[in-house]
Amino acid sequence: MSKKIFNKARELKKELIKIRQNIHQHPELAFQEIRTTTIIKEELKKLGITLIPLKSETGVYGLLKGEKKSSNETVTALRADIDALPIQEQSGVEYQSVNEGIMHACGHDGHIAILLGVAKVLSSMKSDFSGIVKFIFQPAEEVLGGAKMMVEEGVLVNPSVNTIVALHCYPLLEVGKIGIYDGVYMASADKFTIKIVGKGAHGAYPHKSVDPIVTAAQVVIALQEIISREINALDKAVISICGIKGGRAFNIIPEIVTLFGTVRCHNPELRNAIKEKMERIIKGVTSAYKCSYHFDYEFCVSQVINAPEINDLIAKAAKESLGEVKVEILDYPAMGSEDFSVYLEKVPNGTFFRLGITDPGKDPLIPHSSHFNFNDEAIPYGVAVLTQLILDLNI
Ligand SMILES: [Zn+2]
Ligand SMILES: [Zn+2]
Repeated sequence: MSKKIFNKARELKKELIKIRQNIHQHPELAFQEIRTTTIIKEELKKLGITLIPLKSETGVYGLLKGEKKSSNETVTALRADIDALPIQEQSGVEYQSVNEGIMHACGHDGHIAILLGVAKVLSSMKSDFSGIVKFIFQPAEEVLGGAKMMVEEGVLVNPSVNTIVALHCYPLLEVGKIGIYDGVYMASADKFTIKIVGKGAHGAYPHKSVDPIVTAAQVVIALQEIISREINALDKAVISICGIKGGRAFNIIPEIVTLFGTVRCHNPELRNAIKEKMERIIKGVTSAYKCSYHFDYEFCVSQVINAPEINDLIAKAAKESLGEVKVEILDYPAMGSEDFSVYLEKVPNGTFFRLGITDPGKDPLIPHSSHFNFNDEAIPYGVAVLTQLILDLNI
């Protein structure tokens, strides 16, 4: 059975590469993936996959019912993200982006092609699996908003999902390899804005001001001490100030300085505590310097926590379809974030795994860089593992 799956995936390779490169050439930003959505819908319609209408103009939700008789009747969801990034492409490939300043620099074009490949293979072998496979083509992963929308659209209910899985390309693994990690794999992502309000004055007479710039500088340094002095060094957390805005002229002390940034964290309890620690420090420092403040903190997405049992099934599916040496346990979790965690909060029985895309001996490409490109050679591997997983789960 398994060799058959990889062969079927390889037979589709040419067709899927064509789709991938077409999507690569016409990338679309978060929540604007109209053309991409149309292509996906057309492909799924050809396969007889039931498309469930969404309120959103972008994103696709399709169902495929297995015909194998079983008392198991499980529901498994597979998710691909479909959005591109605001980057001017410089990869130099023939099918380089024709959309100014927009680029598939995170491999989501490849994820689409892979999930379409899975739909193609499974729709040709409905008698080999039972239950339901849900295909979720999710918009707007890069802005961490699409998963929430798709959950609100009802992709996890009617019928409710037992297991959910997504893959993401990974340049630190060679093409053909699969990477898995048990437990907390990616950090939560939250964002904040701190407005520090003082009193403006002439730059020559600082004693007439309440200087928000000096205060902001103290706040920036003091916030870092949360990580270095208040958190166990074995816990993983980051506070990054990613922007400072204030002042317009060399001789005017402004009234307001705005800081903004992100908090990333692997420990769900620590996540709440960090917000409180930040507020305590901002309050203390601004008050010491006679400024007032406004602190806005937005909890965006939680940690990606991978279920070991589902990772075991991924590893089994990869070994069955690709061979023993193809599965690697990843050395490190990541401080990056993924809104796939929004699904995992509702369906903890799931995992987010990695698909190698780097040719042996070549330097890994950097995602979110203008020279990035998904490696088409990886497509059949992704198709085979996900397809095999469905055959193993929906028995
Ligand atoms: Zn990305
Ligand atoms: Zn991505």
